Amino acid sequence: MTMAKISEDFIQHMSQQLRNSEQLESLLSACRRPLRKSVRANRLKTTSQELKQLLENKGYQLQPIPWCEEGFWLDSAPTNDLGNWVPHLQGQFYIQEASSMLPALALLHELQINERVSMLDMAAAPGSKTTQLAAALSNQGLIVANELSSSRLKGLHYNVQRCGVSNTCLSHLDGRLFGDTTPEFFDAILLDAPCGGEGTVRKDEQALADWNIDSVRSMAALQKELIVSAYKALKPGGRLVYSTCTLSREENQEVCQYLLQQFPDSITVHPLDNLFEGAEAATTAEGYLHVYPHIYDSEGFFVACFDKSQSAAAQPHRPASPKRFNFQPMTNKQLQAFTAYCKIFGWDISDIQNRLWVKENKSKSLEVWLLPERCEALAQHIKLNRYGMKLADIIKQGFKLHHQAAQCFGQEFNQQIIELSAEQAQDYLKGKDIHLEGSSKPEHKEFLISYQRLPLGLVKHLGNRLKNWLPRDLVRDNSVA
Ligand code: SAM
Repeated sequence: MTMAKISEDFIQHMSQQLRNSEQLESLLSACRRPLRKSVRANRLKTTSQELKQLLENKGYQLQPIPWCEEGFWLDSAPTNDLGNWVPHLQGQFYIQEASSMLPALALLHELQINERVSMLDMAAAPGSKTTQLAAALSNQGLIVANELSSSRLKGLHYNVQRCGVSNTCLSHLDGRLFGDTTPEFFDAILLDAPCGGEGTVRKDEQALADWNIDSVRSMAALQKELIVSAYKALKPGGRLVYSTCTLSREENQEVCQYLLQQFPDSITVHPLDNLFEGAEAATTAEGYLHVYPHIYDSEGFFVACFDKSQSAAAQPHRPASPKRFNFQPMTNKQLQAFTAYCKIFGWDISDIQNRLWVKENKSKSLEVWLLPERCEALAQHIKLNRYGMKLADIIKQGFKLHHQAAQCFGQEFNQQIIELSAEQAQDYLKGKDIHLEGSSKPEHKEFLISYQRLPLGLVKHLGNRLKNWLPRDLVRDNSVA
């Protein structure tokens, strides 16, 4: 990367915001240095220790990120193609900037969580924080991951699937609608707002090239509408986190100030100075984290956390306008049959059996779905783009497992598994069939295939060949084993 271009207007703007010229110098010199890469272990699939080992074996030198148990900086980079590395495709980790791990941690800070918790990630794509929250909740409760941009929604869906997230519904709405459509529905809301992205200049050298105050102000106007919508969609007693990856006060402190002025009796700042050891260095007088890039040698980030009081005035509830919810709870007979089928793989579904539903698809055949808690209640109020995950098709002979089931629950299987070599794993990800030496046909033809003991997907065993069942949209020509 060549040196970032930084507009004079931005420098002028920051000189008014920062306390002294020394700080301005530190900020500008950090903005011109390249950014260290960082990753977060996905607890739904692995542990921090296992990921550390895996990366060290690959030649990386790791440094723990002080605020996130699962986070590591990668101090040396033997290969730049981390995104196509099979463990990444398997969802073992998320490539996430260190400071971007803070908002989800603030949302969960000292929060009482039970298995019926409902969360909204109001501006969610590509899903770094949705997947971080889902892992912290161990896939319990409900997360609504919302995204306005259709192209970014696809990336969000991919990451949610890749990381084995099963407690999340996706919606494709303007975040400003939630306050009126789902008033007081959520226990916790993350608004990782669309912003000017000033803090991202270390990976995007053009981020500050054409900076101007008018764009900052128009972004702030949208952010104010979004934060008020988030406040209204929050239950009394609920938690709200507002974050951006930008540095200007107008998009940060002033948006928070606006919220406090609108609802002075019912919202208080939850100070973040004790979020982690060393947080004071970035904590503002109000109790927000304003992470300038030079403080922790990271991207710039802003995080504010609020508690809504139990006695907050009730928001008007509009009568629900039921949306299409074409799922039926599983009948006892279907559940028994599905339980017996899953046992073929040694998969015990008793933990999820209360969340299983059946849906008729366009060609009138039935599918088994796993929906998050409270999904039906939510669907009375908003149109959901994707509900939970499809687990299987119901077919004449019984069931046929779906790729998502393998991706999310394959680690719980202990039968019908074939471990692939590195070369076979790459071939599988290319969409190729795998040729076998012998020709014996197994009794049950569906198999989970794994690489380094973690699931990759499903195949049909045809005796001398494993027929590739990887969904076409997941086929990759450039995976690195
Ligand atoms: N939270 C994401 C993550 O951690 O991966 C990053 C979110 S990014 C900072 C902000 C997102 O807000 C963008 O994907 C953008 O498309 C989306 N967005 C913009 N306007 C929106 C709106 N009115 N309602 C909801 N989302 C919006």
